Order: sequence, then structure tokens, then C-alpha cells
Amino acid sequence: MIEVSNKCIGCTKCVPVCPFAAINMIDKKATMNEACTLCGVCVQICPVKAITITREEASARDFSGFKGVWVYVELAETGDKTHPKKIKPVTFELLSEGRKLADELKEDLCAVLLTDKNHNYEKELGAYGADKVYMVEHDELFEYNTDIFSTVIVSLVNRHKPSAMLYGASIQGRDLAPRVASTLYVGLTADCTALAVKDGLLLQSRPAFGGNIMADILSPNSRPQLATVRPNVMKLAEPQLGRAAVVVREAAKLDKSLRRVKVLERKITRDSGAARIESAGVIVSGGRGMKTKDKFKQLEELSGLLGGVVGASRAAVDLGFKEKTHQVGQSGATVSPKLYLSFGISGAVQHIVGMKASDVIIAVNKDPNAPIFNVAKYGIVGDAHEIVPKLIEALKK
Ligand SMILES: Cc1cc2nc3c(=O)[nH]c(=O)nc-3n(C[C@H](O)[C@H](O)[C@H](O)COP(=O)(O)OP(=O)(O)OC[C@H]3O[C@@H](n4cnc5c(N)ncnc54)[C@H](O)[C@@H]3O)c2cc1C
Repeated sequence: MIEVSNKCIGCTKCVPVCPFAAINMIDKKATMNEACTLCGVCVQICPVKAITITREEASARDFSGFKGVWVYVELAETGDKTHPKKIKPVTFELLSEGRKLADELKEDLCAVLLTDKNHNYEKELGAYGADKVYMVEHDELFEYNTDIFSTVIVSLVNRHKPSAMLYGASIQGRDLAPRVASTLYVGLTADCTALAVKDGLLLQSRPAFGGNIMADILSPNSRPQLATVRPNVMKLAEPQLGRAAVVVREAAKLDKSLRRVKVLERKITRDSGAARIESAGVIVSGGRGMKTKDKFKQLEELSGLLGGVVGASRAAVDLGFKEKTHQVGQSGATVSPKLYLSFGISGAVQHIVGMKASDVIIAVNKDPNAPIFNVAKYGIVGDAHEIVPKLIEALKK
């Protein structure tokens, strides 16, 4: 419930910021009409704290009206003028997993797309399993902005009441999902590595206590159930080309004043380590056992010969052997290449959690008891400093 107290001074600041034109000034007092979605933007802008939203106790609420598994569609810049943005792979991974959840719940799988211009995105979204695409097309959505995007999503959620919503645990998803959760006053399970349905609820599993245990989390007292999932964790389904998704166009009245962050300059680094490592087919990774930055550089040559990207353990990053954007593991990237070569990495659980989904893992370590051998398909007990140059020589031949 939204209320305006007598503290209202009739300043009208709340009127233009309301994305849904839900505020009228009546007798010099702000008054909400039925278009109000309780998004809370007016509460934030009111200089005299005259507007309050009272939310019902979660446990007392009836959730039977909350239906549908939603996936937030993340777009990446391409730098290409004709197709300036493309859907990020994590969206397809979430749709692939969301399809299974929606089938089990017997609910729709819906993609939520916020963009300034649609480039037939619904075709790809449909191919990966979306039944519907809630699409908001607006000039103000030309680039990601926390305030604007969260406001639009909160209004869509209030309007359509999904039972669950999934985001990629990407830079954008990690920024957006908590904002949406806090505005809706619901929980959020970050960095899930597995999702399932249990008693009609979303069972969200994620590593806890430094990756030593898996925590299963249920949110029985709030809707929607929100989760972020790391890229490369969920298996991609085979796209069904030609499978159509229904497009539901949603209007949003967005005002520039919502945008509290102004972008002054934009630089697109197309080949940043983070972006490349997450989609690499071959990763040549090194750890503390590589000993020096110079010796670590040999891994660059080896990965170049294999058409791959260099990865690093956190110890290697901390020692300055490689930039943080190349770190693999719990606090780095989650990767799933076809081939993962590991040199001088012990295989701590925090490293393993980020690379165990690789198709083939080959590990080189001096210590026959190194835990990395537990996940490796092929293990070589030996000195990386002897083996790396030999591999380079052999590949060059
Ligand atoms: C909250 C948290 C998050 C973390 N996140 C991450 C993360 O994202 N990624 C990550 O990697 N770690 C992470 N860590 C750190 C992790 O626990 C380990 O400390 C780290 O992975 C160790 O890196 P390493 O294997 O390179 O070094 P070490 O554990 O020191 O292992 C070095 C290995 O090199 C071998 N070796 C030595 N010389 C040679 C040689 N000449 N040839 C072959 N082998 C040799 C040794 O036998 C040893 O097994 C995290 C820790 C915490 C607490």
C-alpha cells in the first residue's frame, strides 16, 4: 500500500519521475492512481519523506497468482553498426535451464528484454525455449543503467507476478538483481551452480564456506524467487530453430531524471581477458608452481600455438604473473573449455569450482598427491619447467 502523508509540500518532484504516470497533484498534494506499481521511485525522490510504501508480511501472502519463470536477457555490445548488440551466451544457458524448471512447474518460460531497438531477438530467445518475450523498447534503454533497468523490471514484476527470475552472475546481473531484490523486498541467491524444483519452489544450490559445502536454498516466503547463475555453469540446450516466442510489448514511461549516473566516455575493449576466457575453447592455465612471471610467459606461447587463452590461479594472479581478468575459480571466471591444461596448480577447491566443467583436463604437477589430479583426465607428475618447453617444441614441429 502507498500513502502520502500531510508532510507533502506539493513540490511535484515525484510527478515526472514516476515511470507509469501514476501521480497526479490534487489540492497541491501528490495522489497515486491505479497505474501505481509500488516501484518506489517516488519514495526515493521525495525531499520531505512524505511517501511511504507498506508491504504485506510475506508469510501472510497468497502466492498462487505468481506464475512463470523469467530470464533476464543480457545484451553485449558488438561494435558493429548494423548489429550493435547481441544476446550474451549466459542468457541462452539460463533459458536452457529455465525451460526444464518451467516444464516441471507447468509454467511459462519468459525472457525479459529491455532495449532501445529490437533486432529480432525473439527468434533466438524462442529457439532456446522462451514461450514469451516481455519486451520494453525505449530510447532510454540504449545502454545498461542500474536505476532505469531496475525500475522497469520491478514494474514488470509487479504487473505480471512471475514465480522466479534468473539473471546471469555477470557484472550486469550482479548489479541489477540485488537492486531488483531490495526494491521488491525479496531474497536473492547469488552465484547458483544448480537449480531444481522442490515442492513447487525453486531449489537454489550454491557453494558456501569457501566452496567446502553446497548450500541448498529455498525462498518459501517471498515471490519472485530470484537467483543469479554464473556463466558456463548451465548446459546449453540444442536451439530449436523456427520455434517462436510470443512477443508481449510493454510500455514504460522513462524519464532522464531517473538516470543518476552519467556516462562521460565509453571505451569498448572487445578482447578483454574476462570476455575471452569465458568463451575460450582451450585454456592454458598456470599457478604458483610456474615460479616467476618470465616462466609464466611460456604459457602465453603455448596457448598461442593451441589457439587458446591463458588462465591463472589466484596465487598466480596475486604474485603478479597474470591480470585478475584471467583468474579461474570461485572469485574469478567459471570456464568450460574443450581442453584445460593446468601447470603448477595444486587444485584447491576454489580453483576446481571454476574449471571442473571443462571437457578434458590435463594437469602437470610435481606432487603426485596434488588434488588437481582428482579432476584431471590425464595427469603428468613432473616439472612444468621441463614439460612446457617440450610441448612448445613439439607443437612448433
Ligand atoms: C574465498 C576464496 C576464494 C578463492 N578464489 C580463488 C579463485 O577464484 N581461483 C583460485 O585459483 N584460487 C582461489 N582461492 C585460493 C585457493 O584457495 C588457493 O590458494 C589457490 O588456488 C592456490 O593456487 P596455486 O594452486 O597456484 O598455488 P599452490 O596451492 O601453492 O600450488 C602450487 C602447486 O604447484 C606445484 N608445483 C610447484 N613447482 C612445480 C613445478 N616446477 N612443476 C609442476 N608443479 C609444480 C606444487 O606441487 C603445488 O601443487 C580462493 C580462496 C578463498 C579463501
